[in-house]
Amino acid sequence: VITLGVETSCDETSIAIVKNGREVLTNRISSQIDLHKKFGGVVPEVASRKHIETIDYILDDALNEAKLSLNDIDNIAVTYGPGLVGALLVGLSYAKALSFALDKPLIGVNHIEGHISANYIEYPDLKPPFVCLIVSGGHSHLVYIKDYGKYEILGRTRDDAAGEAFDKIARAMNLGYPGGPIIDDLAKKGNEDAIDFPRSYLEEDSFDFSFSGLKSAVLNYLNSMKQKGEDIVVEDVCASFQNAVIEVLVDKTVKLANMKNSKIIAIAGGVASNSGLRELMKKKAGEYNIEVKYPSRLLCTDNAAMIASAGYYNYINNKYSDLSLNAVPNLKLGD
Ligand code: ATP
Ligand code: MG
Ligand code: FE
Repeated sequence: VITLGVETSCDETSIAIVKNGREVLTNRISSQIDLHKKFGGVVPEVASRKHIETIDYILDDALNEAKLSLNDIDNIAVTYGPGLVGALLVGLSYAKALSFALDKPLIGVNHIEGHISANYIEYPDLKPPFVCLIVSGGHSHLVYIKDYGKYEILGRTRDDAAGEAFDKIARAMNLGYPGGPIIDDLAKKGNEDAIDFPRSYLEEDSFDFSFSGLKSAVLNYLNSMKQKGEDIVVEDVCASFQNAVIEVLVDKTVKLANMKNSKIIAIAGGVASNSGLRELMKKKAGEYNIEVKYPSRLLCTDNAAMIASAGYYNYINNKYSDLSLNAVPNLKLGD
C-alpha cells in the first residue's frame, strides 16, 4: 500500500510517500522558518500564502524522488487538525482535489497522531502497547498507546506546551526563533544547578504538566538580575530552565510506564529532539530496564511521512474520510 501524506498545519509544507506505513520513499519538507523569523513566531496569514505557493512544487519533488507517478498512489492521508485553520485548509483542499481526481481514498489524520507515528517509521518493529510522551510546539501529552489509533490520555499540560515554554524563554532572552534548538545548544555549555527554578509536579497522582509557573520564575529572575545590574549567564539560565522542564517530563513518564508495566517509552514531537530530554529519559528509564525510543530529529518536527504512517493505520482500521472533511484547528487526540 502506497500512501501519499500531506502536512500543512503550521509552517512546514510537506509531502511524503510511504509504503505500508513504515518505509519512507520520500519525505519532502519546505520550512518557512526564515520567513517567520523576523516576526519572532509564525504569522498565520503569511503561512497560508506560502503553503499555496509551495505545495505544487513539493508534490513534483516528491514524485520525482520516489520515481513514481500519481497513478501509483493508493490513498491520500492529510492533516486536518490541530493547527492554524488557514494553513490546514491549503493541504486539506489539495488532498481532497487529489483524492477526487485520482479516485483514491482520503484519510484525515490528527497531527498529534502523526507525531506519535514518527516512531513507527524510525523503528520498523515497534508495536503498541507502549507509553508515549508527546511534547511539541502546541501540545504536551502523556499517553498510553493501547493499539494503533487507540489512546488512553493520562496527562496533558494545563497551560503552556513544553515547546511553547522553550520558545517564550528564548524570546525573553532575545536568542532567536524557534527557541528550542537554541536553548538546547546553549544548555550544553551551562550549569544546570546554577539557578534553582521551580519544578511543577502538581497533585501527587497527577500526570498533568504545568509550565507557566516555571516561565514566570525565569522571567522574574531575568528582570531582577537586570534591576540589580548583574550579568546574566545565558548558558546557565538555559541549562537550569531546561533541566526544570525535562526532570518533570521524565519523572512522570517513567512513573506512568511503571504503572502500566510498559517496558517501552517513546518520545514524540519537536521537543523530542532535545538532547537533554533524550539523555535523562534513557538514564532514568534504564534504571527500570525500560527502553527509550525517539525519532530522528528530522522526523520529530513537522513532516508528511509521519502523517502518511498514521494515515496507513487509519486505513488498515477502515477509518476513511470523505470530501466533506473540514479543518479542525483545535482537534483533540482521540476525537
Ligand atoms: P504541534 O505539533 O503541537 O501542533 P508544532 O507542529 O508547531 O506544534 P513541532 O513542529 O512538533 O510543533 O515542534 C516545534 C517545537 O519544538 C518548537 O516549540 C521548538 O522550539 C521545539 N523544539 C525543536 N527542537 C528542540 C530542541 N532541540 N529542544 C527543545 N525544543 C525543541
Ligand atoms: Mg514548524
Ligand atoms: Fe507538530
